[in-house]
Amino acid sequence: MKYRAGNTHLVCPCCQNDKFDKDYRQLNTKGATLFGLEWENRDATILICRQCSYISWFMKEPEAVK
Ligand SMILES: [Zn+2]
Repeated sequence: MKYRAGNTHLVCPCCQNDKFDKDYRQLNTKGATLFGLEWENRDATILICRQCSYISWFMKEPEAVK
């Protein structure tokens, strides 16, 4: 799948490939949970380059381009 963030068509910074797999990762740490800061936990969107496996991180989910 191809994606864009805002008006920018996303390409891999390593290999210039423009096809990615999307996944999500939590940004929270065990330390934050221990101190009762769960409200700070957020999911980041990650795009994994299908060619070289480079991971790009986004706080705002990129839009899929058909
Ligand atoms: Zn790549």
